[in-house]
Amino acid sequence: MSESATLMDLHRPGATSDIFAGVAALKPSCVPTFAHRRDAIGLPEVAEVDVVRHYTQLSQESHGVDNGPYPLGSCTMKYNPKRNDELAREPGFARAHPLQPAEMLGGVWELYERLQGMICEITGMDACCLAPAAGAHGELAGLLMIRAHYLKLNARRGVVLVPDSAHGTNPASAAMAGFECRIVPSDLRGHVDLEALRQMLTPDVAAFMLTNPSTLGLFESRIVEIADLVHSNGSLLYYDGANLNALMGIVRPGDMGFDVVHVNVHKTFSTPHGGGGPGAGPVAVKKLLAPYLPIPVAVRRDGVAVCDEDRPLSVGKVKSFHGHVGVLLRAYGYLRTMGAVGLREASENAVLNANYLQHRLSHMLPPVYHQVCKHETLLSGEKLNTSARQFAKRLIDYGIHPPTLVGAGCVYFPGDLQSAMLIEPTETETKASLDHQVGIFQKVFDEDATNVWLVESAPLSRKTARIDVKA
Ligand SMILES: *Cc1c(COP(=O)(O)O)cnc(C)c1O
Repeated sequence: MSESATLMDLHRPGATSDIFAGVAALKPSCVPTFAHRRDAIGLPEVAEVDVVRHYTQLSQESHGVDNGPYPLGSCTMKYNPKRNDELAREPGFARAHPLQPAEMLGGVWELYERLQGMICEITGMDACCLAPAAGAHGELAGLLMIRAHYLKLNARRGVVLVPDSAHGTNPASAAMAGFECRIVPSDLRGHVDLEALRQMLTPDVAAFMLTNPSTLGLFESRIVEIADLVHSNGSLLYYDGANLNALMGIVRPGDMGFDVVHVNVHKTFSTPHGGGGPGAGPVAVKKLLAPYLPIPVAVRRDGVAVCDEDRPLSVGKVKSFHGHVGVLLRAYGYLRTMGAVGLREASENAVLNANYLQHRLSHMLPPVYHQVCKHETLLSGEKLNTSARQFAKRLIDYGIHPPTLVGAGCVYFPGDLQSAMLIEPTETETKASLDHQVGIFQKVFDEDATNVWLVESAPLSRKTARIDVKA
């Protein structure tokens, strides 16, 4: 800044270019003169208050849990305590360089060793690796371990079974890990069709991938029988832990008979997500598979937590550096804050909230499966004049994020569901918020009866209504 420029000068039109001219005059540069700028730079002159308003407005154009309810089924969009973000900014962790040698990161290994232990305790597993970057990535890591296990045994098992209600990442991960994927049908109650499963369990089956409760929000009550069937075929049982929010502290995948599990810490253990991350998808396994865990694994030696990368049977590194430390720090903070009793309470409330909504919405959107649900519920749009998709778009106008849409042209689901939505309120919504949501669903339901064109043109309050004109 030239000596003569004062703060007042900044408010004069064209002042910035004067200042830059001043800088150039003070410091003759090594840039050849032919390349010097001759005209003033056309920088915009904007008041600070306008800049703040512009960015604040932009920050509010996307919907998040901080703006309003976000009942997006299968995604567990729960409220994430802001204090965890503060924790993730702890300079000792946040300032560590990814290329720092492992021996210099004692705090990271201490954190990892403790968190691995907590995840094993919650899931009923024996060993854990925190490296995978998301749920789908954890699935891939888990399946690579299963593959390594059978390769070691010289067994030819190239098939993975997946139920038709599975999240799309399950068959995708199976294919990426080199398996052939076969789809197991659901029965009329939305559960795994045991007879079909029995027939599909051939000697070439490596694993059955399942989530419990399922993506239909239903608990597989015959899980022990399923586990016995799978194990008696010499196959393994994979647990997609994305729905863990329904059963923390109540029942453990390990006790149900599962051999491998991944956990979506960004869903269950509080990290803001949506829009693609970052998250983390730790994998935990029973003893049998522990040698194959990806590296690094934190282990305690003589009371000190250290990084263990000397694991000859490991499937190797799945994530650069040491994984998403900030995300894992949030998970640790969340688990320590909640404690065993708090976690159980969170799951009980998640289930209670989903059943409350299922009950209060049933005269408008009847449940597809008439039974007690777990943390989410699948509701049918059969009573609507419009589609569930349009109904959900109208909810946007009233400040509610659309639930997950199921049916024709949307997520594939069992049977021939034409129009349905998967609603997951999460435990962090209060009763007042749930009642407010029911009120808005009612409003849209009434509009659907009297003013269906309004619902069909929604959303009306957004700058961009349809990015894909076909939708
Ligand atoms: C979200 C989800 C996944 C994938 O997890 P990401 O962390 O998004 O990769 C897998 N299975 C189920 C049931 C899910 O809900």
